[in-house]
Amino acid sequence: MVQPPDAKLYEGKAKILYATTDPRILVQEFKDDLTAFNAQKKGTFFGKGALNCQISAVLFELLASRGVPVHFRSLETPRRMLIDRLEMVPLEVVVRNRVAGSLAKRLGIPEGEELSFPVVEWYYKRDDLGDPMVNRDHIRVLKLASDAVLDKIREIALKTNEILLPFYRERGILLVDMKLEFGWNPAGDLVLGDEIDGDTSRLWEAETGVRLDKDLFRMDLGSVKEGYEKIYEKVVGHANES
Ligand code: UDP
Repeated sequence: MVQPPDAKLYEGKAKILYATTDPRILVQEFKDDLTAFNAQKKGTFFGKGALNCQISAVLFELLASRGVPVHFRSLETPRRMLIDRLEMVPLEVVVRNRVAGSLAKRLGIPEGEELSFPVVEWYYKRDDLGDPMVNRDHIRVLKLASDAVLDKIREIALKTNEILLPFYRERGILLVDMKLEFGWNPAGDLVLGDEIDGDTSRLWEAETGVRLDKDLFRMDLGSVKEGYEKIYEKVVGHANES
């Protein structure tokens, strides 16, 4: 059994990684902090980390049960999960089912329009550059990942979308888009990592179009706490009681 965490390895905007006594396993702790626009806008609410951690845990379990390789091992506490230590591919992979956010601006298409097939985009994970969008040639020049690895990431990202889209739809939620991250686990397999929740996905109530995700905070559209509680209720299957 893995002992309690003893060493903080990394602290990001929304999560902290701790070492465990097993070098192959880390603790991923979800913080209550919210950031947007490359951390230019900051917020927090009590319980946010626990909501996102438990939402992510359910989604990772669902994906694993359907054959998607994931870093998730188990939920330890409401805001801590045990994960495989990954060597991350420095890319953010966005899968889109509908137009929103930066795509609406870039293509001049109104938000909400359905795309005829899921669109995959690549972003270079570099805070100092503002995570620029990159194409496969850029990725090749920067030696971030080989073409074979990109093909594999794309395949896992699309499979993830194929599983999550109907999962959310059955719960009255539109999966508009989501950002995924990948890495290599200690066994040398490419797996899905990071988190999957309202911080990293756009989720709209199907009937009303009301947003439940971080756009509530980004654009001051309403209570992000209430949005995340709704996502939790739909994904986990009962209301959050903590
Ligand atoms: N996203 C994210 N982290 C980022 C940028 C985007 O998790 O650093 C997510 C975002 O929440 C949305 C999707 O990726 O679900 C697509 O975001 P978009 O490119 O439209 O950028 P945004 O308008 O959110 O900056």
